[in-house]
Amino acid sequence: MINISRLTKRAHEHDIQVMVEGPGHVPLNEVAANVRLAKSLIGDVPYYVLGPLVTDIASGHDHIASAIGAAVSASEGVDLLCYLTPSEHLALPNADEVKAGLIAYRIAAHAGDLVKIRDKVIKWDMEMTEARRTLDWEKQLALSIDPEAAAKIHSRTGQHPGNNVPCTMCGGACVYMMLPQQKKYDKENKNLQQVK
Ligand code: SF4
Repeated sequence: MINISRLTKRAHEHDIQVMVEGPGHVPLNEVAANVRLAKSLIGDVPYYVLGPLVTDIASGHDHIASAIGAAVSASEGVDLLCYLTPSEHLALPNADEVKAGLIAYRIAAHAGDLVKIRDKVIKWDMEMTEARRTLDWEKQLALSIDPEAAAKIHSRTGQHPGNNVPCTMCGGACVYMMLPQQKKYDKENKNLQQVK
């Protein structure tokens, strides 16, 4: 890293543009320090990382193992994420694997942005929270990072998007169904006590 910072300075002295590639394999507890150290050494130069992978045992699922490192890297201020697909270390990716990798990294980048520039990106999450609270399935699916996958899973419940009903995870114990009932009960109970 020290040598890279020296090379970066030499390149700038010769008016050569530079962007710096970081590591692709870093234990989770060292990811943040790695980004901070690199940024402090190389200065105002675009710095990007390959994930990094936080474990090497995830062959077939390296997009997930590396998105964990990517989310931490993004929150610490890397300028660009280089995405990995499920086929990393095994073969060249097909179209579905490219899609899986890109989705994993869009999630990682957004998670990082929620830390770095929260006010600018929180609207998406707030809208999803509101759609969940009101059991607005059409909106929830539309706001999902992968609406197609979300709709496919939700269709197993047999419900049509837009229904004001809970999903099959908690069924009748859905917090969004119970909360309004609880609030109504609390209000009625309060009124009753005032009458007494
Ligand atoms: S049933 Fe459970 S998981 Fe489904 S919307 Fe309600 S609280 Fe969420």
